[in-house]
Amino acid sequence: PQCKISDMPKPRYVRVNTLKMDVESAILELTKQYAVDKDDMVPGLLKLPPSTDLHKHPLVINGSIFMQGRASSMVAAALEPKPGWWVLDACSAPGNKTVHLAAIMKGKGKIIACELDKQRVKRLEATVRLAGATNVKVKHEDFLKLNPEEPCCSKIRAILLDPSCSGSGTAIDRLDHLLPSYAAVLDDTGNSDRLMKLAAFQKKALEHAFSFPAAERIVYSTCSIHQIENEDVVKSVLPLAASHGFQLAPVHPQWPRRGLPVLDGSQHLLRTDLVEDGEGFFIALFVRKADKRPQEY
Ligand code: SAM
Repeated sequence: PQCKISDMPKPRYVRVNTLKMDVESAILELTKQYAVDKDDMVPGLLKLPPSTDLHKHPLVINGSIFMQGRASSMVAAALEPKPGWWVLDACSAPGNKTVHLAAIMKGKGKIIACELDKQRVKRLEATVRLAGATNVKVKHEDFLKLNPEEPCCSKIRAILLDPSCSGSGTAIDRLDHLLPSYAAVLDDTGNSDRLMKLAAFQKKALEHAFSFPAAERIVYSTCSIHQIENEDVVKSVLPLAASHGFQLAPVHPQWPRRGLPVLDGSQHLLRTDLVEDGEGFFIALFVRKADKRPQEY
């Protein structure tokens, strides 16, 4: 019988919220109950045994650690914002990556967390409060309507764009039926109406990100396995990216699984694999060439 993805034992990951607790103290506390390993990809990410249930753990309840998957944790880490920068999380609720950015920036500088959906803004605000991320300003707005020349936006040096996507890489219980035709899924369902609409939005959002005058790093990520939402979106914006001085740069180069080879620079893109990693994520990083950045930077 076919092995089910949902039955495969997957390690549990938790990210230490270094705004509230240092990594060694978290390890000390968690090893009282569990076998704990440091992840070798993302600083502050810890690996626990598959059966671990931390939902009611005091460190989760008080925001010292966040239950966050490995691939999801690679996204903010790929952006590498520096403490003191102005950073935009363009599509941010429920805010897991927002508060990860805040921790990487040691609470210094400013993060603008933009979210369109009113209900999801509430979840975002709760996440930010729980994390103690005091340098986050939540903006209930359409990212596509943010004016890059506005005073707050014109200083933004890094943008994390994790837009709405099909979620085909995370809906574990829906994944089992995909497994027999996993390869086909990458191509065949890529033409459905829904995916085309999502891809059109993703492309528009990425194009808008390039127009922020001080932006020098932009990360684009999805939790989709579909080429149409991933490599195809990136490929379609490359000419515009180049006209703003941006080019693809390697995302976590030590990671073995890269983008599908359908564009120049696909080796810079990162994919996680549904079967090997238990979730299908995609990450692209655009970096603006130093001589194309505004003078003051
Ligand atoms: N980065 C988040 C995290 O890790 O917690 C997950 C983001 S989720 C994939 C995408 C979010 O984008 C949703 O909350 C959705 O409501 C929001 N969104 C969709 N269109 C948007 C727009 N035009 N402007 C701002 N947010 C938008």
